[in-house]
Amino acid sequence: MLGLPKAEREVLWQKTIEAVEKYLEHTGSLRVSPHLDPAGLRDELSRFDFKAPLPPCEAIDIVARNLSANQVHSPHPAYFGLFNPKPTSVGIAADALVAAFNPQLAAWSHSPFAAEVERHLVRTFGARFGFPLECADGTFCSGGAEANHTAVLTALADHFPKFESEGIVATDKRPVLYLSSESHHSFVKAARACGLGIRSVRTIAVDESLRMDLEALESQLKQDRAAGSAPFLLVGTAGTTGAGIVDPLPALAEFARREGLWFHVDAAWGGASVLVPELRPLLAGCELADSITFDAHKWLSVPMGAGMFLTRHPDILTRTFGTGNTYMPREAAGLDVVDPYSHSMQWSRRFTGLKVFLSLLVAGWPGYEEALRHQVTMGNLLRQRLSQEGWQAVNRTVLPVVCFVDSGREDEPYLQSILARVLATGKAWISGAKVGGRPVLRACITNYDTQPDHIEGLVRVLAEARDAVGQGVS
Ligand SMILES: *Cc1c(COP(=O)(O)O)cnc(C)c1O
Repeated sequence: MLGLPKAEREVLWQKTIEAVEKYLEHTGSLRVSPHLDPAGLRDELSRFDFKAPLPPCEAIDIVARNLSANQVHSPHPAYFGLFNPKPTSVGIAADALVAAFNPQLAAWSHSPFAAEVERHLVRTFGARFGFPLECADGTFCSGGAEANHTAVLTALADHFPKFESEGIVATDKRPVLYLSSESHHSFVKAARACGLGIRSVRTIAVDESLRMDLEALESQLKQDRAAGSAPFLLVGTAGTTGAGIVDPLPALAEFARREGLWFHVDAAWGGASVLVPELRPLLAGCELADSITFDAHKWLSVPMGAGMFLTRHPDILTRTFGTGNTYMPREAAGLDVVDPYSHSMQWSRRFTGLKVFLSLLVAGWPGYEEALRHQVTMGNLLRQRLSQEGWQAVNRTVLPVVCFVDSGREDEPYLQSILARVLATGKAWISGAKVGGRPVLRACITNYDTQPDHIEGLVRVLAEARDAVGQGVS
């Protein structure tokens, strides 16, 4: 039963492809977000006790029906959400191929093609970000959070020579890292997971444009040195999660160099800007970073689970993650290759890079440039339409994320009521957030298929919500 006979497999693939095609064809006609019903789902699942096997096609039906009814459809063109894309078509095919061939990306010799594709990709992307090709290196990760965690570990390994053997307890001074109050909270988790604790994280205030305030950074660092702490890492964000803001990267790079800090750029979403000539200047300074986080499952639109950690220090990953052992394969010993498991946080790992490789092979840089530019254009249209309708954008960015309030009304309960009504329609998905401490509504173009019609739809739903809330029908 684990492997099906050929005739049954053929029916199963057919059925699976039909389910995928039906979803892709009809995503736009589904409610963007589901009614939430944990009790109903648990009830349905309690019927499956796995004692009696089901026919494969029936099992696929159950799953496809439930996924359709029970998820926020991030591939929906009216999903204006949290950087979750509609996946590329070949990205979907790539994930199926990976599941079938099941290459093991721990030892290089087990999957030479997969390992070299990933090496080629991290070096190619490193070069696009401005690292010299001869020293560009990196690894694929599950996502931005793992890439950021990797950054904290590499920075520790680099800054504290005894970190590898003695660990964090042996540092006589408290290691401290710096990021802005608008940066991603995966660093808080990373600080915990690295044994640093939250008190090692210095959250620096932002200026009016929501960029890290350099004077505040400087004075915090001075204070920390005076108190006997050991600053080791500075994180600049290139495209904040809330508002798409890029920190002053060249100045941060210069500051980090002067102070002897590892400089990491978190470009999880905004990093794709390096692929579009008119956006490229936004990321000036990222070439000075020691390492960069870039998520392919955000703006490169590949299916979930594709982050990248990029660095221009070719030895740092092995210094951070290398181990000695006797059981891993040795066939590649003596070749000029690196075993992925000794070069990244994960051990056994799937071929994450294939969905990026295939998407790039098929779309090419020009295809991506066009898709990204289209989304920026849709972002501009959204900003313009919101403004014409009396909403007020509060973030200034050319990236397609708009944080807005109602002109004259920006209290949180009011905005929450608007948000709840928008979501209840099932016609569009936006989120609430705080940027610079201020409550906002947030709409982001995350889908290469989002068109002016969908933007009009969102504007309409917002207007209806405003009318209803204004009349007290919240
Ligand atoms: C999304 C995001 C992350 C986290 O990435 P995951 O892929 O969700 O793990 C980190 N930093 C920034 C700026 C992000 O937008």
